Amino acid sequence: MNNLRFDAVETVLSRQKKSVSIPEGKPSTFYGKNVFSIEKMKEYLPKNAYEKLVVIIDTGEVIDRELAEHISQAMKSWAISNGATHYSHWFQPLTGSTAEKHDAFFEPDRNGLPVEKFTADSLIQQEPDASSFPNGGIRNTFEARGYTGWDPSSPVFLFETAAGKTLCIPTVFLSYTGEALDYKAPLLKAINALDKAAVDVCQYFGKSVTRVAASLGIEQEYFLVDLSLYNARPDLLLTGRTLFGHMSAKGQQLEDHYFGSIPERVMAFMVDLENESLKLGIPLKTRHNEVAPSQFECAPMFEEMNLAIDHNQLLLNIMEQVALRHSFKVLIHEKPYADINGSGKHNNWSLITNTGINLLAPGKTPKTNLMFLTFFVNTIKAVYEHADLLRASIASASNDHRLGANEAPPAIISIFLGSQLNDVLDEIETPRIAKIVKSESMLWHGIPKIPELNLDNTDRNRTSPFAFTGNKFEFRAVGSSANSASSMTVLNAIVADQLIQFKADVDKLIAKDTKKDLAILNVIRKYLKQSRAIRFEGNGYSKEWEIEAENRGLSNIKTTPKALDVYTSDKSLKLFESLGILNRRESHARHEILLESYFKKIQIEARVIGEIVNSMLAPASITYLNELVENVKGLKDLGLPKESYSSQLNLVERISTLINEILENTEAMRQERKKANHIEDIREKAIAYDENVRVYFDKIRYYINKLEQIVDDNKWPVPKLRELLFVN
Ligand code: ADP
Ligand code: MG
Repeated sequence: MNNLRFDAVETVLSRQKKSVSIPEGKPSTFYGKNVFSIEKMKEYLPKNAYEKLVVIIDTGEVIDRELAEHISQAMKSWAISNGATHYSHWFQPLTGSTAEKHDAFFEPDRNGLPVEKFTADSLIQQEPDASSFPNGGIRNTFEARGYTGWDPSSPVFLFETAAGKTLCIPTVFLSYTGEALDYKAPLLKAINALDKAAVDVCQYFGKSVTRVAASLGIEQEYFLVDLSLYNARPDLLLTGRTLFGHMSAKGQQLEDHYFGSIPERVMAFMVDLENESLKLGIPLKTRHNEVAPSQFECAPMFEEMNLAIDHNQLLLNIMEQVALRHSFKVLIHEKPYADINGSGKHNNWSLITNTGINLLAPGKTPKTNLMFLTFFVNTIKAVYEHADLLRASIASASNDHRLGANEAPPAIISIFLGSQLNDVLDEIETPRIAKIVKSESMLWHGIPKIPELNLDNTDRNRTSPFAFTGNKFEFRAVGSSANSASSMTVLNAIVADQLIQFKADVDKLIAKDTKKDLAILNVIRKYLKQSRAIRFEGNGYSKEWEIEAENRGLSNIKTTPKALDVYTSDKSLKLFESLGILNRRESHARHEILLESYFKKIQIEARVIGEIVNSMLAPASITYLNELVENVKGLKDLGLPKESYSSQLNLVERISTLINEILENTEAMRQERKKANHIEDIREKAIAYDENVRVYFDKIRYYINKLEQIVDDNKWPVPKLRELLFVN
């Protein structure tokens, strides 16, 4: 019998080893080869233009027309001499993936003569049709145009495929009326807002800081699966996750995968991926096996946030491309398989000054310690004040499987600091110390210096969604498929807002004649008291924590449609508006886009389940059932006593019941879907999809998995989890 599943398994087993073509020389010699870096600009720009650019990069001024013209010519020369035929604005619409629209350098000039052309205009701005991108009602049909606008803070690069090379220009994406339709525009604004607020606060500690950059290191977890097996699973193909499948008898129980030796075929993929990434200036540094079978992780060195996020988006593109070369498919879904670990994208965040100081690194002297404490405690306070907004920033249909689902950690935002720092904060908070502090000279008497921290020894807590890890905060609850810009925009915004508040609070005390350092300390102390509830050192995955968190008044919103509500609360609207990050219209539009994306994803999953059940699993099971029925009939005809085939008879009944259950539930789900489709209000619709449609998924999965275990293995039409996870 024809069976896609066995064909697929056979293909995997007969795969030839793929060799990796390693670029010549050490990585340091080809790192950034495909990036038009500042060094290359020096080579390609006229001298005075280059000098002007260097000044502009330093001061953050706007690039003028004349300079842009020079830059576009330099880019063109570099790109064409490296074999590029096309250029493209490269942007991050709210679909979650990246978008590009290619134009050829080549065009016939006015006299019909062929030339290669690229102007400042094409560099600075393009007008793609915005009507096919999510816009949350911002775009009226008569204003279908959108704008992409060059982001000079992220270098252009050459994207290489077997079919040629394209010069990619990172851009923002705006509507005709100027509203952001992408992730990058608000991110850049949030980075600026934080820069400004942090610089203002830094002035308390000296005048040398003029810029503070948010830095980000993104750890990317992912699964690999063989391409043939992937193609034989319509659910993986269409939704990125398995919607059913009995867990392989061996899963991750033995914990033998984490940091284990990397299988050779995977290793070839990783090396290839690293080389391609390095050429594009993505400083990939770390690679290892993750906890679940066939789960892996890679991480670059941290970079300035905007660049780090562009690089992560680009990395996802490269991963997909390189994986295909090795006949793998990369799964970046947060939960491709039930019952084993899901994937995250840990966002390591810190604040670094133009003088090279990490504001989140504990210092050695009291003064630098006070600066560290200021930023440290303000971050804690910000997360406490806006925990719901942070939760919303990571909400998606796929991440819901990691947050709050039955086998996942709860969707409660809390902060882990480690015992050392907790002790320090507790001592600072104690009023006993406040009494000792009388005069400037006495200020540090009795106040503990922060012990010099051995960074490798800071405690670890894998269960915390937001953990301090030595000199940075690690936002671990971000989903593996997310664009980090969403959560980082929120994190920057809330910390910026908090720092502005802090400065106002401190200045108020100073105005009442409190010495500056004491004023700072007093405000810190007040914040520590107020934000205590958000600090949690225990097991974030435990049932007890859910109860305790509730007692503490922390929220635990389990699903996306409701988690998103906070985006349109008055508090959030004001926050984004006052910092100039999103106006009200943009906030409302984003809310709508996220709700729409949510219900559409559930809708697709529901349809795929229906299709697979009705056209693959039920027919295969019925074929087997018929064989059993024939068998039982035959035994009966032989006149054998019933007791001698009672087990077979039971099996017939069992299989028949299970088939009936999946068919019935699938039909019931379809009815609910039809009802949900009629709901006009988008929030109500998303909630209906969650509460009335999605609830069938687990039920149907349960019956399918039972069936999978008793139907003839030869007849099961789709790859089983043991094959997806272990055949390589
Ligand atoms: P772990 O898995 O132990 O958390 P990894 O080495 O996998 O650590 O990833 C840590 C990430 O944090 C890397 O991307 C690293 O560059 C980044 N990182 C290190 N220091 C900082 C910092 N000060 N600011 C931002 N990111 C940082
Ligand atoms: Mg980590």
